[in-house]
Amino acid sequence: MNTEWPLALITWFEKNKRQMPWREVATPYRILVSEVMLQQTQVVTVIPYFHRFMHAFPTLADLAAAPEELVLKLWEGLGYYSRARHLHACAKAIVAAGGDIPSEFDELRKLPGIGDYTAAAVASMGYGQKVAVVDGNVLRVRARMLKEETPVDAPALKKRYFQELTEIIQEVASPSLFNQAMMELGALVCKPTEPDCANCPVALWCRAFSEECAADYPKRTPRKKTPHYEVAVGLVYDGDKLLILKRSEEQMLGGLWEFPGGKLEPGETPQQAAQREIMEETGLQVTVGKELAVVNHAYSHFSITMHAFRCTLAGGKNTPDCDRPWKWVLEQELSQYPFPKANHKIFVKLEISN
Ligand code: SF4
Repeated sequence: MNTEWPLALITWFEKNKRQMPWREVATPYRILVSEVMLQQTQVVTVIPYFHRFMHAFPTLADLAAAPEELVLKLWEGLGYYSRARHLHACAKAIVAAGGDIPSEFDELRKLPGIGDYTAAAVASMGYGQKVAVVDGNVLRVRARMLKEETPVDAPALKKRYFQELTEIIQEVASPSLFNQAMMELGALVCKPTEPDCANCPVALWCRAFSEECAADYPKRTPRKKTPHYEVAVGLVYDGDKLLILKRSEEQMLGGLWEFPGGKLEPGETPQQAAQREIMEETGLQVTVGKELAVVNHAYSHFSITMHAFRCTLAGGKNTPDCDRPWKWVLEQELSQYPFPKANHKIFVKLEISN
């Protein structure tokens, strides 16, 4: 097996790595939290969240003992909220089993919300186990090095590279450095567009570079166009209080709070949709007033335009008929509740601090 390129890669990494708080003190707990936060999220975005999280929950036991609402509040704005709920469940499961984060990949994999990527990261970077981490950066680097024709988003390729790189890692002195170096190379040099091959430590072993076709790799399965939805929500006022509802755990953005509302049906105006959705969700009859804000937001698989209306109660009743948690709160109390990002855009337009 060729062990020259992993050595060249690690040497480059040690000279060029970025400072990151979880690298400075690399305990299994800090690796676990940072790796969950880093899924689909850039390092620069994660750093302040990581500091806040470590300040609030310095140990895994602190995280396990925290109320879910606080965990979600500290995650607010980072997106993909199921990660926060899974991390919380994972901390509780570890504490229930004695409190030590497992060191073996297979044991880590059994924990709630821990996939191959996070299990490999904790095992290798937290405990020095010889197991490969395969994220999007690693896939891209390796696919270019091998001039891979299989689409990089194919699950079979991820599995194949996991096996191949785990074999390579057996010959490497520091699996932690190798894994970090692969990811760092993808982030800093072998970037999605315009890879900097002239400064790449593995260029000598890269087929795409030697055949001058790096820009053609990795291959991808053609994407379908993501759908767009028009959504209407009501800021339903009863005096100076507003109605908020909690999303159920099974839903996307589960556990976060929101205003009642939903998608427009064919032929409906946003006002009509707000009135109908509020009635369907809460049984409350409202008068839909002024349009307060229109915001656009893109999620990973769809995008929305959200219309927010000021609504007032019209039916003489203010108790929602609703099987999920609800509350009447003052505007200044909204900051105590975690909300999805699209709602924050509404808060900004309405100058509500949150
Ligand atoms: Fe990526 Fe270029 Fe390095 Fe190959 S030589 S791994 S394409 S940066």
